[in-house]
Amino acid sequence: MNDHDAATYDLLVVGSANADLVIGVERRPAPGETVLGSDLATHPGGKGANQSVAAARLGARTALLARVGDDAHGRLLLESQRAAGADTVGVLVGGAPTGVALITVDPSGDNSIVVSPGANARLTPEDIRAAGSLLAASRVISTQLEIPVESVTELVRTLPPAARFVLNPSPPAPLPSEVLAACDPLVVNEHEARYILGDEAAPEDSPADWARALLALGPRSVVITLGADGALTADGGGAPVAVPSPKVDAVDTTGAGDAFTAALAWRVGLGDDLPTAAAYAARVGAASVTRQGAQESYPTSDEVEGLSA
Ligand code: ATP
Repeated sequence: MNDHDAATYDLLVVGSANADLVIGVERRPAPGETVLGSDLATHPGGKGANQSVAAARLGARTALLARVGDDAHGRLLLESQRAAGADTVGVLVGGAPTGVALITVDPSGDNSIVVSPGANARLTPEDIRAAGSLLAASRVISTQLEIPVESVTELVRTLPPAARFVLNPSPPAPLPSEVLAACDPLVVNEHEARYILGDEAAPEDSPADWARALLALGPRSVVITLGADGALTADGGGAPVAVPSPKVDAVDTTGAGDAFTAALAWRVGLGDDLPTAAAYAARVGAASVTRQGAQESYPTSDEVEGLSA
């Protein structure tokens, strides 16, 4: 029996779960003003919940470790995980209302978003320690930064020796060096790469320059996502490798990064090398932008097979 068979889960996603409350508006209100908008649309979201649904829809044995409120939004999020086939044994309930993103969208497609982290901010280091058996049953563990950085740090400290750790540092925040050092890979978009590099990134630097500079900060490997241009992988074992994305008609890019990271994390756990896993993830990301929404847009593995780079 190899390690993959020994693990109960191909991927454990530790992270946020939000209800996305979306209203279309002709224009955003000025301070003190009220505007009328469209009917409210409520969607399951949050980077952790999105990643978990994306992986489960692809066929990965997936579990989510998250916290939601004891409310209707929490139940919506639990239901979307179950419908995708993800295990919700690690979803803690209560302590605060479910996290919410209040989103207004104008006719040009521009968003204004207010996030109430709610229960996500109460996923504590103690919750991470208490999930030891779930961590031990997982081949790859991925997370993002919509939960407290202290909880991410605790996760890194309690990683089972055989588990691989994948981090998408979004939204970007200062990271302890021990967290960066555990990443294999660190998955960033251009904005996150520039944030982490700060003054170390010159305006004229290319993504390959960012990849080399990020590797120098300690991660074992780095993947930079580049939207329609695909991704770049680097593990220090040679020059960074460019991975193209299939050409598609993009309708809505919401949640593409989450789908990409989930697919990548799953595939490296199955033994793919980083460029091979990123090429698969790019197809998943591309498929996701051809449909509206985040979780609703995520493809099955059959749909991914139909797309070639
Ligand atoms: P988001 O914050 O919207 O979730 P992101 O900035 O984290 O996204 P992107 O680089 O935009 O991440 O997208 C992730 C991956 O999805 C890309 O590496 C690419 O493979 C795929 N992708 C995104 N947009 C497109 C597109 N327009 N055409 C083809 N593939 C795309």
